[in-house]
Amino acid sequence: MSKVIVAGGGIAGLSAGIYALKAGYEVEIYEKNPIAGGECMGWNRKGYHIDNCIHWLTGTKQGTKLWEVWKTVGAIDEDTGYADTNRFYSSRLGDKEVSLWNDLDRTQKELIEQAPEDEEEIRKFIQHVEYAKSCVIPSDKPMDMMGIKDYIEMGKEMAYMPKVMKEYGKVNCADLAGRFKSPVMKKLMTDYLPADYTAYSLLVSYATMASGNGNIPLEGSLAMSLRIVKRFREMGGVLHTNAPIRKIVVTGKKAEGIELEDGTMVKADYVISAVDTSFLFGRLIDGRYMPKDLRKAYENRKAYPVTSGFQAAYTIDSDFSGEDTIFFECEPLRIGDNSFSRMSVKSYAYDKSFAPEGKTVLQANVVQSDSDYLYWESLGRNEYEQKKAEYAEELTKRIVKEFPELSGRIELLDCWTPLTYNRYCNAYHGSYMGFVTTVGNKQMRFKGVVKGIDNLFVAGQWVMSPGGLPIAVISGKFAVQRILKKEKRSIEI
Ligand SMILES: Cc1cc2nc3c(=O)[nH]c(=O)nc-3n(C[C@H](O)[C@H](O)[C@H](O)COP(=O)(O)OP(=O)(O)OC[C@H]3O[C@@H](n4cnc5c(N)ncnc54)[C@H](O)[C@@H]3O)c2cc1C
Repeated sequence: MSKVIVAGGGIAGLSAGIYALKAGYEVEIYEKNPIAGGECMGWNRKGYHIDNCIHWLTGTKQGTKLWEVWKTVGAIDEDTGYADTNRFYSSRLGDKEVSLWNDLDRTQKELIEQAPEDEEEIRKFIQHVEYAKSCVIPSDKPMDMMGIKDYIEMGKEMAYMPKVMKEYGKVNCADLAGRFKSPVMKKLMTDYLPADYTAYSLLVSYATMASGNGNIPLEGSLAMSLRIVKRFREMGGVLHTNAPIRKIVVTGKKAEGIELEDGTMVKADYVISAVDTSFLFGRLIDGRYMPKDLRKAYENRKAYPVTSGFQAAYTIDSDFSGEDTIFFECEPLRIGDNSFSRMSVKSYAYDKSFAPEGKTVLQANVVQSDSDYLYWESLGRNEYEQKKAEYAEELTKRIVKEFPELSGRIELLDCWTPLTYNRYCNAYHGSYMGFVTTVGNKQMRFKGVVKGIDNLFVAGQWVMSPGGLPIAVISGKFAVQRILKKEKRSIEI
């Protein structure tokens, strides 16, 4: 039996492991952290659970191909319970508040009431969100392995997407905001995704929620990662945790296996890398193997930015339900070179397993960019800790100003920065997702093969923008299909 080694036990690595087992290989995953799951993570503090990933999981609608993939890896099934949330997010400005409800009719009605001057633009937006419900992520096989029949089927499924792309494909969220007159509508269009994101991404994200295909599994991100780990182990896979890899050993055109940080060498017939690609190319293998397009994206921070966050988690001494995710204006806060005058809070009251009865976990987020990452990185250890505490205190003040009812009832549990994701997952600039696609630039996508090394394949959210959990999970499957194709076996797994 041929042996596959998977580098990295995030969602992509676990998925690769499970599909490789399905295909009949012997599989070992090597993960540097004590727990697998990577960025799909949560942790406990003072008896509370801080869930730090799933705001929506694309693929929760039964009958979709992506749902089948999530089911295969053990993430969800027919019995999975979901959070009873009914909106994507809300934006406040002055005394106005507007929401993107899962119910599009309700959203349209309320937005028109709040911003009658934008009625035409609102109707157009909602109509195109309806069209965007037809967007699917190809999950059967990599696109370059698709035949004419597959393309015809995909074309039928995505029948309405060309309308969305025509209207919103060539503008970013800032341009979209410019189409509205009402100030609060402008904020609604730029609050969730950074202003330079392509506008269609916002419509597709909202459509995913509105179509019931983006639910939040109960018990959160860590529990989901652990279910996938369980599936992997039950199928006979071996997961090594606390096992950081130093390098992938390459001789000529062949990856011989991996060398761990403690010097252990492990041989393999195939290696699937599921670590961050910035770490793969340059640290695990020589940087010269990096595909040209990927290199260009890393070199061009303006065209291919990444996003992260400065975040804080709080315990609230009350049942702070009904707020979900809300963005609001705040007194400007300067972090490094950049100043922020909007921030968001998200209430986790929807999941009773995160806090004792009558209490709630609340998280605050200030979006961070490449340059913010560099700021945090430039600080010495003590200064970093001091600044983190200082900014968390500043966020607390702003939250209490916006929600005076929380005065005396809010306590900081933890705070973290883009550096946290880099330290924990080796994530490039602490990014949550892959490269942002900006207007006028090609969507980042590469095949997951490494020119010059025949038996090394690449999975992970960086292989296709915008990244996120669905790309991570399908990329693991796709990497195994590439091995099968190389062996001239059926890619149906
Ligand atoms: C705050 C936040 C919110 C998010 N919200 C959503 C959401 O709502 N919906 C959504 O779809 N996505 C969301 N995401 C994105 C999602 O979490 C990621 O896209 C996904 O988890 C990436 O999976 P991955 O396996 O590609 O990469 P990673 O999770 O980065 O996994 C890589 C793994 O490799 C390991 N590793 C690194 N170096 C080594 C080494 N040298 N040796 C061994 N192991 C190594 C890491 O520890 C890690 O476990 C969110 C992310 C964050 C941080």
